[in-house]
Amino acid sequence: MPKYDPSEHDWRIGAACKDTDPSLFFPVGTTGVAVDQIEAAKQVCTTCPCMTDCLQFALDTNQDAGVWGGLGEEDRRIIRRQRAAARRAARQAAAEQGM
Ligand code: SF4
Repeated sequence: MPKYDPSEHDWRIGAACKDTDPSLFFPVGTTGVAVDQIEAAKQVCTTCPCMTDCLQFALDTNQDAGVWGGLGEEDRRIIRRQRAAARRAARQAAAEQGM
């Protein structure tokens, strides 16, 4: 995991959620009322100029909870699984070429 350097995260200054109640982005659970909260948070993200940086930060630092960069917890888990599978495939391909 890359070391966290706050100076690399100036993008947060322009975040659409900076004046929003943080609990909207970190609902308790992923069912019931939380579903509506997650969708409302994702709507805020669609207006945010920092969406790409925010999502990249969440993926780089393995943020498990909450909505980041317009994606929820399960959305990011899918991306992480896809990236892990791609890394395994690349390692396997490299190992096979080395044989
Ligand atoms: S993408 Fe969403 S969670 Fe990330 S900074 Fe913007 S509004 Fe906040």
